[in-house]
Amino acid sequence: MDRLAALPNTYKLVRRDARAGRTIVQLPNGASFGGEVLAICAGPCSVESREQIEATAQAVAASGANVLRGGAYKPRTSPYAFQGLGAEGLKLLRDAADRFGMSVVTEVLDPRDVELVAKHADMLQIGTRNMQNFTLLREVGDARKPVLLKRGLSATIEEWLLAAEYLLVAGNAEVVLCERGVRSFDSATRNLLDLAAVPLVHSLSHLPVIVDPSHGTGLAKLVAPMAAAGLAAGADGLLVEVHPDPPAAASDGPQSLTFEQFETLMGRLHAVAAAAGRQLPSATLAA
Ligand code: PEP
Ligand code: MN
Repeated sequence: MDRLAALPNTYKLVRRDARAGRTIVQLPNGASFGGEVLAICAGPCSVESREQIEATAQAVAASGANVLRGGAYKPRTSPYAFQGLGAEGLKLLRDAADRFGMSVVTEVLDPRDVELVAKHADMLQIGTRNMQNFTLLREVGDARKPVLLKRGLSATIEEWLLAAEYLLVAGNAEVVLCERGVRSFDSATRNLLDLAAVPLVHSLSHLPVIVDPSHGTGLAKLVAPMAAAGLAAGADGLLVEVHPDPPAAASDGPQSLTFEQFETLMGRLHAVAAAAGRQLPSATLAA
């Protein structure tokens, strides 16, 4: 028996047998996590300007992404690095998503911003650095909005599931987990993308799991193969960073795909999704 499955009293509500079926998390524009159609979240690391986010929304929607991502509040290692556009970024993201029929996922860093972020976003992202910010987890648990809970930089699977448990205990059952890589001894990639976490978490919990090959590798050339591998491992969706001009990006340029690279990736993922018994969302060409 799995070691974690043998610990029945650690997490109660996220356990696989806590409910009859699997959780499916639905967003307002029809995107869903955990159903037959995958959720494809794409967009820049940071929202930088109206032009940038609108051009990206148009391109990724045309390639079949159904959730627009982009950080308005950025958790940066250096206090001197770009911290995000804040409230203005939230509005730009919302406008761009509405224009191209997409949902919005964006990170909330501070418990005091939860209400404001929830006003503009369809899904609240809790970033890797905040996975065990218990005050934030409680506050987001109180918000009646779906949550994307990223795995902590050095979190065990058990710690990650217990962080999700905080959200469910607070009354928010619409939780999606995101594997985004963990710290390792090897700096050849930014993080070590733990794809075994996908089938393992599916065996331990009823919650959907998506894969972030962008932060998981830190290198644009590794995003496509690891996105495919993530779907092959059974992920319920992907989170991919895409930028109109990656070398000019305010954050995470080296791991961001160009529009063309994202389009090529989506074209290749159809067969992988089908082999995993899933489908990609259909492309939106609205302008
Ligand atoms: C992000 O999605 O841009 C981000 C900051 O992710 P993570 O918390 O996984 O580093
Ligand atoms: Mn990023």
